[in-house]
Amino acid sequence: MTDPQPSGAPPEEPSVEPPVAPVPYVPAYGTASLADLPGSLLASLGLPTGNTLALEPAPRVCLFLVDGLGAELLAAHPGAAPFLSAHLRRTLTAGFPSSTTTSLATLGTGAPPGEHGMVGVQMAVPGEGRLFNCLRWTAPGLPIDPDVWQPAPTVYQRMAEAGIEPAYVAPAWFDGTGLTRAVYRGMRHRAAESPGERVEAVRQALRETAFVTVYYGEVDRVGHVSGWGGGEWLEQLAVVDRMAERIAEALPPGAVLYVTADHGMVNATDKVDVDRRPDLLEGVRMLGGEARARHVYTAPGAASTVLEAWREALRGRAWVVTREEAVSAGWFGRRVRREWLGRIGDVVAVPYGECVIVSSAAEPVEASLIGYHGSLTPAEQNVPLVEIRR
Ligand SMILES: [Zn+2]
Repeated sequence: MTDPQPSGAPPEEPSVEPPVAPVPYVPAYGTASLADLPGSLLASLGLPTGNTLALEPAPRVCLFLVDGLGAELLAAHPGAAPFLSAHLRRTLTAGFPSSTTTSLATLGTGAPPGEHGMVGVQMAVPGEGRLFNCLRWTAPGLPIDPDVWQPAPTVYQRMAEAGIEPAYVAPAWFDGTGLTRAVYRGMRHRAAESPGERVEAVRQALRETAFVTVYYGEVDRVGHVSGWGGGEWLEQLAVVDRMAERIAEALPPGAVLYVTADHGMVNATDKVDVDRRPDLLEGVRMLGGEARARHVYTAPGAASTVLEAWREALRGRAWVVTREEAVSAGWFGRRVRREWLGRIGDVVAVPYGECVIVSSAAEPVEASLIGYHGSLTPAEQNVPLVEIRR
């Protein structure tokens, strides 16, 4: 028995469509990005500055920064975070790259990465031929002065000038690091370790000052190691939800709690290891950035060859562009200050989907993770802005 043959047109050949690359999700600088939050917070506290996000006036504000809590991640698990989900007001975009060091500088200065110059976890030190890791604040053989590397005044310094002594509740070891100096200068550090200690430190600080930031990093850490969405990650999401609820209960009358994040996350299933790919290292002087946002610094005269090789190798897996293209596309903001251009790779490679670009030899720990961030996808860019007003 055979199927009846259709009359008329012959059976169609299965069509082979070339995969369509997604479009980079460029941060909404100037309208709804993390860079727009600090000025709006200052305005809500009564300082004379633009209030892009139209935040309402408040006598006291607590900003709870949850490392790695992307808006899409939260939306996928409302049951694990009922309090945060119920008070989600809107989403903001993180900035590029969507990584902690960049977003902390953005939150600290109220400016996009192209202005503050923290454009990657690992950046070339122009003229030195070395990589600087700003998370660890180390560059082999080079002292890096945080006030020089990130010279823009912080919003916390502006608050202090206006008579508000902003407080920063975070683990003790953060105090005095190069990164803290670069992005949090002007803050008074209040050491607190466990979730309960941090809530209590916020409660005390809000009695003494009109602005408190509290940081929590375990959602991100667990997401990197075990992947986001898994059991351990959901436990941490529940911890954060309970912390937010307890901070909200501790707010003095009229005060506001905002909860946001520095970036989201994706779980990687497709690892491109440059150390097993000689075609990707040909003409490359240094590989910076991070797995989802690579700065590729090329040997003199090799930029176009490297660009072509990386484009070919990563077709359908990453956006591969020149420095000029990344800048003119607005990835770092409306403009990039000329003195920061050398920190950006000659070639910028930004994986999408579930792809990461790792270096198993130079970065063995980073290469072994499951969760990553840094790219221009909604899962990494969109962060929640939760608002609770007493
Ligand atoms: Zn992270």
